[in-house]
Amino acid sequence: MNSGNEFFLNSFEDNVSKNMVSFYHCKDCDTSFYCNDLNGNSCIFCNGNNIEKLEEEKDNSISITPFIKNMEDAVACYKRNIFWNPFIPLYFKRKKNYQNFKKVYVPCYLLDANVTGNISYRAMDKHTNGEAYDVVLQTNFDYNQLVLKRCSLFSDSLFESIGIIDLKNVVDYDTSLLCDTYIIKDNLSYLDASSELRNKIMDKSINMSEDGVLHSQKVVRKNDLEISFHNVKEVLVPIYYLKMTYHGKNNYYLMNGENGKYNYEIMNSKLGVVLFSIVVFLLLFLIFYFVFFL
Ligand SMILES: [Zn+2]
Repeated sequence: MNSGNEFFLNSFEDNVSKNMVSFYHCKDCDTSFYCNDLNGNSCIFCNGNNIEKLEEEKDNSISITPFIKNMEDAVACYKRNIFWNPFIPLYFKRKKNYQNFKKVYVPCYLLDANVTGNISYRAMDKHTNGEAYDVVLQTNFDYNQLVLKRCSLFSDSLFESIGIIDLKNVVDYDTSLLCDTYIIKDNLSYLDASSELRNKIMDKSINMSEDGVLHSQKVVRKNDLEISFHNVKEVLVPIYYLKMTYHGKNNYYLMNGENGKYNYEIMNSKLGVVLFSIVVFLLLFLIFYFVFFL
């Protein structure tokens, strides 16, 4: 069976050509990254100065999706979506709090998955006169071009919503594509990175197979599904990334630097929710008043 381990061996045995990119670790926020030149000697993630240069060379045997969107696009997209949202606190609309967008490459795996095996159901409905039957379904599902994040800098769900890339834009890694951009060092093993994906694929496959059981009541009794990953490739995904700490909580805004897809995890403003509710209530009240009393 094809597995990630096989890929790992190939990846590390490939000839690794060295280049000018250096590897750094920030002791303040425990983030590691590669870059051409450490601008101002401070960490791009926490602005701390407690940075050490490490002896590791960038492996060039990976692929990269170059940025298509520029920083102005990222800021304009943020303003368009955050400024007019009444539920988002004013803090996130002040320039000094959103001006520190980071332009980074996020290390990912690009892979296909296949799920095969049998699922046994105990099923019944009114046509079976209350008698339960065993139903066994054979499954074989393919999932193509999944993107799997290899660092823990932000949540999987946030990244999943914007991390889709167009394969035709993926090219071989080249230092000249790096310019002023930092590459985040992966900090998740293949097993850690893929365990949640395995669970999701398993749940989705069981859900899809359930439609094939033509009885209204059904319970999964057991399954011997097996997941295998194929065509595993290392790829760098271009991301504009903003982390803002407000009332001790981290808030995130991400934009895909290739296709402009964005999403955020930003807390709601309690005041905004109250004011918005009052405005909606007043509008409904006025409509009701005009319709029934005038
Ligand atoms: Zn740092």
